Amino acid sequence: MQLIDGKSLAKDSQARVAKEVEALKQTKNIIPGLAVILVGDDSASRAYVKMKAKACKEVGFYSIVHEMPDSISQDEIIATIEMINTNPRIDGILVQLPLPKHIDAEKIIEVIDPKKDVDGFHPYNVGRLVTKLDCFVPCTPLGVMKMFEKYEIELRGKNACIVGASNIVGKPMASLLLNIDATVTITHIHTKDLKAHTLSSDIIIVGVGKPNLITADMVREGAIVIDIGINRLENGKLVGDVDFDAVKDKCSFITPVPGGAGPMTIAMLLENTLKATQAREIK
Ligand code: NAD
Repeated sequence: MQLIDGKSLAKDSQARVAKEVEALKQTKNIIPGLAVILVGDDSASRAYVKMKAKACKEVGFYSIVHEMPDSISQDEIIATIEMINTNPRIDGILVQLPLPKHIDAEKIIEVIDPKKDVDGFHPYNVGRLVTKLDCFVPCTPLGVMKMFEKYEIELRGKNACIVGASNIVGKPMASLLLNIDATVTITHIHTKDLKAHTLSSDIIIVGVGKPNLITADMVREGAIVIDIGINRLENGKLVGDVDFDAVKDKCSFITPVPGGAGPMTIAMLLENTLKATQAREIK
């Protein structure tokens, strides 16, 4: 079994971005800018935004966080995004999800300028991803693809089972794998006999949010297991969706939680923001 070290890959990626940022500053006097919108008081969202802001600082980005109370109206969020869309110092806009229940997240995402949509959630980028055109790819699945690339894991013709079918994880993951000629099965809460699907797969990618959803009897010998889930147990321990200790010995490759998909997600946010800056520069 080989452990996929997302933390170390993310560190390398971050160092590359920092170098490019320095070069942009020196040669063109350009500094990439990221704006984050954080609504409400969800502690996990706050922690993620803090990590993203820290990473931005480390690579030399200009970054701002627009903090808004739970009680804010949809129109006020939209007005803020419209303002940031036209701010020349900002290349990337990220709305931290989930949003409070009275806000229509899809409407909010549609207001973001697709050229600044560094999370890749705008329908424009979603459509381009599905049709295999250049676009902003959602950071978590992009990070998973980077891990496959770095560990030279061949995907063409492989059976891949994705567990969880959200817009931000499962669906874009499926598009990316299909685009590289894997045979993709997407499973979700209504899937009957999940085990039958995972057992017949070479690659299992799980993003659900349920500890121990994937047990050893659901994984075939030599499978590749990517765990995207993040769960905080009552004892404070952070775990994924895979029963790691029982599953690891059956795998050829496996990602840990923490230290797998999580750090890669932040690294890809930096890469996407740099990509947005480079597109601005070409204009
Ligand atoms: P979501 O709630 O939007 O989607 C969950 C998906 O899992 C749904 O498609 C649902 O049908 C499916 N599901 C639920 N129960 C299931 C079951 N028993 N069997 C099979 N499928 C089931 O969640 P999300 O936003 O996609 O996040 C999923 C997990 O990934 C969470 O733990 C989240 O914290 C984590 N996540 C991690 C990162 C990262 O950076 N590593 C990024 C995004 C999300």
